Amino acid sequence: MTAHYLPENLPTHIQHYIDGTFVDSLGGDTFDVLDPVSNTNYATAAAGQKADIDLAVAAASRAFTNGPWPRMKPRERARVLNKIADAVEAQESRLAELETFDTGLPITQAHGQAQRAAENFRFFADLIVAQFDDAMKVPGAQINYVNRKPIGVAGLITPWNTPFMLESWKLAPALASGCTVVLKPAEFTPLSASLWATIFEEAGLPQGVFNLVNGLGEDAGDALVKHPDVPLISFTGETTTGQTIFANAAPKLKGLSMELGGKSPCVVFADADIDAAIDSALFGVFSLNGERCTAGSRILVERSIYDEFCEKYAARAKNIVVGDPHDPKTEVGALVHPEHYAKVMGYVEIGKSEGRLLAGGGRPAGLDTGNYVSPTVFADVKPEARIFQEEIFGPVVAITPFENDDEALALANGVKYGLAAYIWTQNLTRAHNFAQSVEAGMVWLNSHNVRDLRTPFGGVKSSGLGHEGGFRSIDFYTDQQAVHITLGAVHTPKFGASATH
Ligand code: NAD
Repeated sequence: MTAHYLPENLPTHIQHYIDGTFVDSLGGDTFDVLDPVSNTNYATAAAGQKADIDLAVAAASRAFTNGPWPRMKPRERARVLNKIADAVEAQESRLAELETFDTGLPITQAHGQAQRAAENFRFFADLIVAQFDDAMKVPGAQINYVNRKPIGVAGLITPWNTPFMLESWKLAPALASGCTVVLKPAEFTPLSASLWATIFEEAGLPQGVFNLVNGLGEDAGDALVKHPDVPLISFTGETTTGQTIFANAAPKLKGLSMELGGKSPCVVFADADIDAAIDSALFGVFSLNGERCTAGSRILVERSIYDEFCEKYAARAKNIVVGDPHDPKTEVGALVHPEHYAKVMGYVEIGKSEGRLLAGGGRPAGLDTGNYVSPTVFADVKPEARIFQEEIFGPVVAITPFENDDEALALANGVKYGLAAYIWTQNLTRAHNFAQSVEAGMVWLNSHNVRDLRTPFGGVKSSGLGHEGGFRSIDFYTDQQAVHITLGAVHTPKFGASATH
């Protein structure tokens, strides 16, 4: 039986934050929030409906139209963003503790998320101060310049895996750009998001710039997507949800940034450093409990090293420490919610008829309650198998052999997703040719996902729409208006000036 860790001063009720005030839903609706170790409800959260979204959007619109934030000098905004980063860093332990409690992510990995969240604010603070826009000269005729301006109220909709970090990913560039925002966090994990309001207030973010409405996707999320005064939606979540949002945003032709699901390949050639590849391919799928959009959840291995790879990989997977997410020794914690646990366990059962089970395959011994799944490894998985094609979003990996580069590429590309790819080889020519041919928004050669914040982030095919990262994120949250100034005489055909007949 796992001891049930309870953070001190845990809230029993989580509210919205609208126009500088913590509030409940107008209609009083709430939903229950549970922790994934005991699966008991520890809090209620205000369940936002359309009326609550209307209030939040109205506050954000006022702050955008009349408030100082969009009009501040970049340096002034950057100072606030840096204070936010300082506050996130200062609260790292508390934040990590709450995040781990709410999501089931191992505590050591939750610490990393807090640091990354702070870094997002520092990064965009630097970027807006350094930002400059183009001016173009047509000698003697014109000067043209780009008048960059924040678009307005941005709707931010986020998932439950690494919630605080993913929220920072959208909040930082949206705020840096001068937009005002309404955030709708994932309903499974509203706890850490409730920290933002105080952090922002203390950092000096003007009232109404940041608004948060909790609630279910089909209620609060849907109302945000359809709101006529929200011209932008930045969404991270499942591909199917992305499709619904795409359709709902179409009538207003909203700006959309979509980070969706993945089923990324990790391709290991025979000439790779096998031990390094094994370390990386284990971390790549079992970190963050496997609840990771860029997980390398399909490992493709060249036939000549296949047996050796599978044996070593499975031995290590069996040795992974699964347990209480708050224990620093834990490598895989508890999955976020019983519904998600049931989905992942469903795939584990499907996998037993689709592949050769090498490790895991169910609940770990000694962990009778909580959403624990043993790191599960299936080998000999055929490309048409569901566990090869579908995103499982848990600690489950499919290993498939290949004979040559062409087959590896066909297998890598043979799914609907295209988020990330990891390639292991010492051969420079093969590495680059493969990287350039693989259908993935992001490729890592001889590494798991280690990302410089300046690089483009995003997927192709069913994994997303648009690329954020660095100045691309600023581009998403701003308009680039072209202003053309006439310096000389403009040749203007004189319509209607000829003598009348
Ligand atoms: P989800 O799609 O179920 O929910 C994401 C958010 O959308 C939640 O806040 C939810 O309430 C909201 N939502 C649901 N229905 C909605 C609707 N009709 N209108 C508006 N909002 C709605 O996703 P999830 O289960 O929370 O997260 C896991 C998924 O996220 C996985 O597929 C994963 O790959 C993906 N993900 C992608 C990335 C990326 O960068 N590509 C990063 C993290 C997670």
